[in-house]
Amino acid sequence: MIRGIKGVKDILPDETARWQFVEQHARQTAGLYGYREIRIPIFEMTDLFARSIGATTDIVEKEMYTFQDRDGASLTLRPEGTAGAVRAYIEHNLAADPLPQKLYYLGPMFRHERPQAGRLRQFHQFGVEFFGTADPRADVEVIALLWRFLSGLGLPDLALEMNSLGLAEDRPAFKAVLLRFLKERESRLCSNCRRRMETNPLRVLDCKVPECRAATEDAPRLTDHLSPEARRHFDKVLGGLSLIGVPYRLNPRLVRGLDYYTLTAFEVTSSQLGAQNAVGAGGRYDGLVEALGGPKTPAIGFAVGLERVTLMLPQGNTPSVQRSVYVAAFGERGSSAGLTLVEELRALGVSANTDYRATSLKAHLRQADRLRSIYAVIVGDEEVSKDFLVVRDMDTKQQENLPLKGAAQSIALRYRSDGERAFSR
Ligand code: ATP
Ligand code: MG
Repeated sequence: MIRGIKGVKDILPDETARWQFVEQHARQTAGLYGYREIRIPIFEMTDLFARSIGATTDIVEKEMYTFQDRDGASLTLRPEGTAGAVRAYIEHNLAADPLPQKLYYLGPMFRHERPQAGRLRQFHQFGVEFFGTADPRADVEVIALLWRFLSGLGLPDLALEMNSLGLAEDRPAFKAVLLRFLKERESRLCSNCRRRMETNPLRVLDCKVPECRAATEDAPRLTDHLSPEARRHFDKVLGGLSLIGVPYRLNPRLVRGLDYYTLTAFEVTSSQLGAQNAVGAGGRYDGLVEALGGPKTPAIGFAVGLERVTLMLPQGNTPSVQRSVYVAAFGERGSSAGLTLVEELRALGVSANTDYRATSLKAHLRQADRLRSIYAVIVGDEEVSKDFLVVRDMDTKQQENLPLKGAAQSIALRYRSDGERAFSR
């Protein structure tokens, strides 16, 4: 047989309820903050990602799924959502809209990485982008949204880490200081860091190799090299978070893997996740819209990995599912009556199910049990000939006869009055 691709997972029906729950919570939280959904394509011109994410990042250097279209164009499966959102923002001139542009997206992303728990080649993100507002309160809002989304799901051991990357203008001076520091310890760095040290020294701070982390323990801090303007912005963001009660800690090493970030950078981690401990991350990217050919536009956003969120979702927080009414029909006339009844129940908005393979009452009741049905409605030839059917409560095992005529309506009434019991976890 042909198997699925490594690192590309099926989400089976037993898991989709969790996914739908998380996605619904994402939509609802984004809605609370006035963000509207944007649906951007799954593939774009390769240049879009290369130019926005940055040529010397992990994603562009080695993780993109890039292929030639039949007409020769180079296309790439999106590794993240911001580049596409920015392209759409520019292409459709959303800057001209007098309303603040607050967008969210949900969907699959693609990166050729080494698959492991919480790291896949096709994974899913929920992300938001807030365009056009440089005010630090926009940073506070975006971070509050992320925090409310994650903490509202009851995820354990969440920690918000904050840093400032300074203005784009602050970067060259800091890079020079950092490079001088790194050169002194070059021999202790991994080969990857030694290579990227010259092109993108900030990325060394983000390296996960323990020796590199140790060697850069006392590296110069971005926050010690901020211009007064960047410092002011950062202080206002931190002050705002404190004001609304979002707890954070400073992490001077936090740099983010993408080149387009400026000023505020943040990440939410959970110690429950082990090695892949980042749940979501984001930051300000005030230069990106202009770099991609749009008007000068400040912007800030985040992306959360939904695999990691669903992995951490506490068992008790999984959604309840509607229990169905099982129609146990057998015999020739019973089967016809059952076929009508199951459809009538659905027309009345009652979840109804059956198994057309079952021919005996015993087989039917076993299926009703497996499906965790609320009632089994028994209708065989004998019942039909006497114009009644039997409703068996699957929890109490009590049975009651009902006239065949109007049975669907009576069952629907009973189902609604059972309220809570019609849902199961
Ligand atoms: P990491 O350090 O874990 O590689 P990243 O910096 O590459 O993360 P971002 O690009 O910031 O990740 O993406 C935001 C979130 O998307 C991450 O915090 C994570 O939850 C999720 N994510 C990123 N890559 C993957 C992946 N390959 N599989 C599953 N989730 C992912
Ligand atoms: Mg990564």
